[in-house]
Amino acid sequence: MQLKQPNLKNFLQKNDSKLEKVTPMMAQYLECKQRHQEYLLFYRMGDFYELFFEDAKVASRELGIALTKRGKHKGKEIPMCGVPFHSSQNYLSRLIKAGFKVAVAEQLETVKDDKNQEKQNKIFPRDVVRIITPGTILEESLLEPAKNNYLLSVFWDENQISISWVDITTSEFRIRKFSKDSNYENLEEILFKIDPQEIILCEDIQDEKLKKFFTGWQKKITNIPQAFFDVRNCIERIKFFFNTDNLDSLGEISDLDLSSLGSIVEYMQITQKNFIPNLSKLIIETDNDFLIVDKISMQSLEIFQKINGDKNGSLLRTIDQTISAGGSRLIIEHIKNPLTDKKLINKRLNCVSYFFNNTDLMYQIRLNLSGIPDVERSLARLSANLNNPRDCINISNFIQKSLIITSLIEKNPQGDVKDYLISNQTKCLLNDLSDKIKKALIEDGPSNIVNGGFVKDGYSDKLDNLRSIKLSLKKEILNLQLEYSNLVGINTLKIKFNNFHGYFVEVTNKNVQKLIDQETTKFDLIQTTKNVSRFQTDFLKEKSVKIQNSEAESIELEKIIFEELKSKVVLLFKELKELSYKIYFIDVMLSHAFLSEKNNYVKPEFNKRNGIEIINGRHPVVESSLTNSGKNFIPNSCVLEREATWLMTGPNMAGKSTFLRQTAIMIIMAQIGCYIPAEKANLSIVDKIFTRVGASDDLSQGQSTFMTEMVETARILNGSTENSLVILDEVGRGTSASDGLALAWAILDFIVKEIKCLTLFATHYHKLTELFETNSQIKLKTLKSKEWGDEIVFLYKVVDGVSLTSFGLHVAKIAGINEKVIFNAKKLIKLIEDGEIFKKNLIEDGEEKEALELKTFREIKNTLENLELDDITPKESQQILYSLKSLFKP
Ligand code: ATP
Repeated sequence: MQLKQPNLKNFLQKNDSKLEKVTPMMAQYLECKQRHQEYLLFYRMGDFYELFFEDAKVASRELGIALTKRGKHKGKEIPMCGVPFHSSQNYLSRLIKAGFKVAVAEQLETVKDDKNQEKQNKIFPRDVVRIITPGTILEESLLEPAKNNYLLSVFWDENQISISWVDITTSEFRIRKFSKDSNYENLEEILFKIDPQEIILCEDIQDEKLKKFFTGWQKKITNIPQAFFDVRNCIERIKFFFNTDNLDSLGEISDLDLSSLGSIVEYMQITQKNFIPNLSKLIIETDNDFLIVDKISMQSLEIFQKINGDKNGSLLRTIDQTISAGGSRLIIEHIKNPLTDKKLINKRLNCVSYFFNNTDLMYQIRLNLSGIPDVERSLARLSANLNNPRDCINISNFIQKSLIITSLIEKNPQGDVKDYLISNQTKCLLNDLSDKIKKALIEDGPSNIVNGGFVKDGYSDKLDNLRSIKLSLKKEILNLQLEYSNLVGINTLKIKFNNFHGYFVEVTNKNVQKLIDQETTKFDLIQTTKNVSRFQTDFLKEKSVKIQNSEAESIELEKIIFEELKSKVVLLFKELKELSYKIYFIDVMLSHAFLSEKNNYVKPEFNKRNGIEIINGRHPVVESSLTNSGKNFIPNSCVLEREATWLMTGPNMAGKSTFLRQTAIMIIMAQIGCYIPAEKANLSIVDKIFTRVGASDDLSQGQSTFMTEMVETARILNGSTENSLVILDEVGRGTSASDGLALAWAILDFIVKEIKCLTLFATHYHKLTELFETNSQIKLKTLKSKEWGDEIVFLYKVVDGVSLTSFGLHVAKIAGINEKVIFNAKKLIKLIEDGEIFKKNLIEDGEEKEALELKTFREIKNTLENLELDDITPKESQQILYSLKSLFKP
């Protein structure tokens, strides 16, 4: 979808001859639509948003609403459909989710603004006041509570790429620059991590490779003109937007950054017009700020979703115990960006410890967090002038709950948690604001200010007065209905109201004459329908005007009261933002503490210079699923120090992948400041984690080609440093045995000699263990198992040593591979081991017979073993004998 409409502020009305011979209203619509051709145009008419022509057809189909018509254009009927203004959110939400972008046109003046307009029979000016796109939505019903909604802009030169991204619903504005690699892998990584809802991109991309790259993101892309990225314009826009003359005050930003940032500002201004929330803070991110866990590793560690796409069973689902919407957004950001600064990690860990050691306090605060409003989003909407009184109520309720939370901590504040308290002065200001809102607004009042009715009685004398005038006038009208009905002798006479006539008398058509003949009061006929006729009297008209005036006046007054409250909220924007961040942070720390208490996690220490020592660690997700089915997880230690590499062998299904993954997961958990599932942990800070797990695990994603495996491995070898943790599982399995072994050998050798990083290397190539047996940097580890007759029992314990076999045939048997294949495979192993493989045919006939006989023998043995001879009747014995005999039939 393109965005080519001119900035409305400078827009001049065009006199287009093609718009000839249409009603003034349709001419206005067509002119507006011409400037917003790429959007569904929601055109405000009275209490409805109407859509016309193609838009109407699309919307009626998508929303399942009736398609009607209104007048003609160029000889053809104009298709039309409409949605009520008060329930438009629901319809908008469905359209945005279906991938449409919507332009909302409102009436720009009201009757009050131009009293002569109606008399002159002119239509009120209407124009688009806001364009709603996936990255610029603010409305609660259109947003996912637990997910940030990012709008992202990309700009690049020959060597670098700059991206800016903003969540206008939470006021987060970030920028990041990185080097441009030949395959755009860095860009892919970052886009994957940010997961934007909408990407704005210049429409004219010359670089074919980049063009191809973006086809993968096509669904999210909005093309904008190159001019949006012009650096000189961007500088002015940014200065204006951030209200500064000095760009240095924003931090170190290059020209490239200015272009990506400036384009996003321009896009917001064009789409949001007057509805841009306060976005004062800009964060400049660098590569060194966070532990880098690349896309493949995130996926193979099943951090946010399982490999099959299921969110249940992911790390996030297992460890996220937050209660507030803001807390759940923050924990996702923490997991996406684990820290590398020891001080910051320890600060978080100390907060967790504080709550972990004060469980009563922890439960009390969690109780107060339940039902806490999503203040960030309410604040964004209010500051963007989306006037919803309930957002003010949300803010008031948030302040009250938050102040209880901070006061609970204040009773015994310790260490780093003190940073998350607020000053007495801020407390007073916020308390005051909350009281004012509480005093003024009805808790469950309307969700917009258009018709008033949201200010409490007793808040304003003037409003109370206007309301009581209206009430007494309405009473008078009720009395008048009785009076008129007696006067004309019609029991069914009613006084009714509509927006067009105000109050009027209504009788059935058969009674019309009685009113016309009435002499004491003059009833003027104003409208006749099929069944009823409507009349007006001077007295009723006078009362009607008075009621309408007092109503209009009271709505105006309510709006003024709302604006006053809103400006008070916006004045405390910074304080409210700070408080919301603190509360959401506390929620995340409490989530960690709660989880640790429930599942017996431990605080990791960071005292090592290079290495990790995890004693009796567990995989949080596997443990939780085993616990749910009443089984125990067997803990394992992982100590990588001088022997920085563990070369692991072990049977299939013995728990290798679980062990490898749990190590990486525990490091991530530790570096986000969370306790970890272990008995004890002493760690060094890791800068990157790379995991490449077995090809079989990726099959469901269609990624297990050897090429993919090698691309991923290349990325690991090129990207890791001596401070990285590298986990390689079954490298080289996707090619021939000799190529695979040679590659695995050379890769391991390179890691040990060149990179020298912390490495867990699992393999089924037992030959590798022989090759590296004497290497002092490598420790050979295996997973313990026991052979029990024909069966193998997995003990899931990591021990020193080498596994002599993979027990692959055993797993194949469990998986249901037929006896003949298993038998043949056993024979083949023997031939391979004896070097006889090329000298002999695979299976000889006699051996096949032997295999079948063995199978028959097993079945007979099983039947007889399970037979309770004393419990069966002679007839049953005979049947069993028959079935055993049938086994020998060919
Ligand atoms: P393969 O080589 O075939 O990929 P693997 O050795 O990697 O197998 P895993 O996938 O890690 O084996 O584990 C297989 C199953 O064993 C897991 O799904 C889990 O149910 C169980 N398991 C793994 N580790 C443990 C443990 N430490 N304690 C208890 N059960 C475990």
